[in-house]
Amino acid sequence: MKETSPLNLYKQLPQTNCKKCGEQTCMAYAAGLIARTRKVEECTPLVEEKKYAKKLEALKSIIAPELKMIYVGVGDKQVKIGGEDVMFRHQMTFFNKPPFAYDVTDAMEEAKLVERVKMISTWKKFYIGKWERVEMIAVRSVTDDPAKFAACIKKVMETSDYPLILCSFNPAVLKAGLEVAAKAKPLIYAANKDNWKEVAQLAFDYKVPVTLSVPFDLDALKSMAVTFASMGLTDLVLDPGTAPNGKKLQQTLQNFINLRRAAVEEAQRDIAYPVIALPINAWLTTEDPVRAAYWESVLTAAFTIRGGALMVKHSLGAHSMMPDMHLRFNIYTDPRKPVQVKPGIYKVGNPGVESPVFVTTNFALTYYTVESDIASNGIDAYIISIGTDGIGVQASVAGGQLNPTKIKDAFGETDFKFEGQKYPAIVLPGMAAKFSGELEELFGGKVKIMVGPEDSGRIVGWMKDFWPPK
Ligand code: SF4
Repeated sequence: MKETSPLNLYKQLPQTNCKKCGEQTCMAYAAGLIARTRKVEECTPLVEEKKYAKKLEALKSIIAPELKMIYVGVGDKQVKIGGEDVMFRHQMTFFNKPPFAYDVTDAMEEAKLVERVKMISTWKKFYIGKWERVEMIAVRSVTDDPAKFAACIKKVMETSDYPLILCSFNPAVLKAGLEVAAKAKPLIYAANKDNWKEVAQLAFDYKVPVTLSVPFDLDALKSMAVTFASMGLTDLVLDPGTAPNGKKLQQTLQNFINLRRAAVEEAQRDIAYPVIALPINAWLTTEDPVRAAYWESVLTAAFTIRGGALMVKHSLGAHSMMPDMHLRFNIYTDPRKPVQVKPGIYKVGNPGVESPVFVTTNFALTYYTVESDIASNGIDAYIISIGTDGIGVQASVAGGQLNPTKIKDAFGETDFKFEGQKYPAIVLPGMAAKFSGELEELFGGKVKIMVGPEDSGRIVGWMKDFWPPK
């Protein structure tokens, strides 16, 4: 959806302001559609009343993402792949972070298979207020044996409810996998120049999304996508080939960029499908697992930035996963809206009447840095996060979003009572030191205003020198 004006979406709505969607006005709902916080189905008059049929059709066409969105899996673990509207994050935002699919194979011993599947589906890391996780499991047939592939998938599904990618170029193997897994709506990987007729039939029969693999030939890839679309198969993922190094890696990245450009800038609907990247191919370049994991991570970073909509990976080492998770998190935050925590007062450890109260802003990165510096040093404290629209301390002091009145009012909105504290005091961030006099006046001199360090990493030293207050 390139449309950014709610007015143009409003024209396709009933314009009755009936409030059935939960919004006060149709215009507010139109703004929600642009932000993708509302769905078309939530305007029930539009969907249910025949007289609006043309408007409904027009609206659906306007709001369809430039890059088709594909759903894989079912239930709350279902993932969305693609669905983007822009080339670059700063042009608006990206919406659907590329799921990371970690591989297992049908040659693994059962105990090892179960162990790895458990590791994949329980891995999580708390980062700036959110749990980052792996989203998918790629089951690779290395035996080329349909029975072994089916048994492997069965075991994977008994162990985890994560969405699957079924990987084989052998239609008989894919069919055996689909017999077990079709209801869980896996993605099949892949149709190629040799097997496309049989794989298309499987995608049709089992109603599952399918990957088209034509390495390093975008014209042939497009031609296959057109053929599949003409058969009614439009839940497609494109594999333009992932070379792990050398000149072909350069071509790989250029192909990713060209495909994204064709979809979002040139509106080439024939090829506007999400693209799969295979950082796992790093393992073809070396037998040293440390170097392979390192290079896999580098490739993941490159494809995350260059339009990879789904990644197949191997290394579960923290040194490989963490950088990729963090990079993906940051690329897929909305640049129009800094990541925020809810304003309010928070406890760190077990604070009591002798504990300090630290002031910070609700910019998530600032808040969680302060919280981590306090918690990791075993300090029991309160933190009050002031609503600055997600702006950090230095900028919000300069811009006025953080000011003495706002800090005073923020305490008024909590049930925190200074009267119950042994040391009624507030610790300002060092960068807000200039507020101390005015803030003390606002509290009528009943609360001591202390100036903490500029860097929360120094809170532990500050506590030794200044807490409790003399
Ligand atoms: S339900 Fe539809 S018609 Fe009613 S207010 Fe919402 S957008 Fe407007």
